[in-house]
Amino acid sequence: MTALLGPQYERSRDAIEIDITYACNLRCTNCNRSVTQAPEKAHLDAGRVRQFVDESLAAGKRWRRIRVLGGEPTLHPHFTEIVGILLGYRAQVPSCRIQVVSNGHGAHVRARLAQLPAGIEIENSGKRGNVQPSFGAFNLAPVDDPVFRHADYVNGCSIMTDCGMGLGIGGYYPCAVAAGIDRVLGEAGGRPALPPDQDSMADLASRLCRLCGHFRDGHDVPERLREPLLDTPMSPAWVQIYEAWHRRSKPRPKGPAE
Ligand code: SF4
Ligand code: SF4
Repeated sequence: MTALLGPQYERSRDAIEIDITYACNLRCTNCNRSVTQAPEKAHLDAGRVRQFVDESLAAGKRWRRIRVLGGEPTLHPHFTEIVGILLGYRAQVPSCRIQVVSNGHGAHVRARLAQLPAGIEIENSGKRGNVQPSFGAFNLAPVDDPVFRHADYVNGCSIMTDCGMGLGIGGYYPCAVAAGIDRVLGEAGGRPALPPDQDSMADLASRLCRLCGHFRDGHDVPERLREPLLDTPMSPAWVQIYEAWHRRSKPRPKGPAE
């Protein structure tokens, strides 16, 4: 069907989510950036955000919306600078909405949000703890499920259309969730520069959506219709991926000559 009709979902060309950090002050169940499952204080350089703005302006890109998130974006050591860089873009493209998506958890985070300049929208989920019953089972990889044995993963899901394409520490992706998956795989295989609109990024969807629990639903399921989920179920592919990540992340013991 996909070969005949094309993919069900297309990555966005006018909205982008930038994961500026994987640091977070919470450890939520089913975090779809693997902040709980593979925690690290990895930040996107402010210079990379500046490069994104330069690339966008050079390409005449008029973003409808830029969302700044993570992790908890206010914990980025250069959060204020990054917001300033994006406001510089907005000075050139006044119609662009800039949103900071925060968990709103704790006095420090709330203080950073309160300092944001006018014109920055805040999406505050107001999380109070680590258990997020409304989250989906991100770590149930469809590739581990016989139901999806004939699935074509280039179809992705509504997130890459509705939330936007993604920029993370590994480059540009069809969505920011995919960027987070590639972080844990240690691949950094996103596009190194802003892709042209003709680039569907189907190869990235094909490689990464097979691991993503969101692929199972496709469309966003309204919160009131979701079964509450209190733990983080994990299929074999993810167990192996996190084990490999933890092995790579373990500090290497020092040899006698070091
Ligand atoms: S607040 Fe967001 S980024 Fe942090 S652990 Fe929870 S879901 Fe993940
Ligand atoms: S299935 Fe996952 S990785 Fe693929 S587009 Fe949806 S959210 Fe992104």
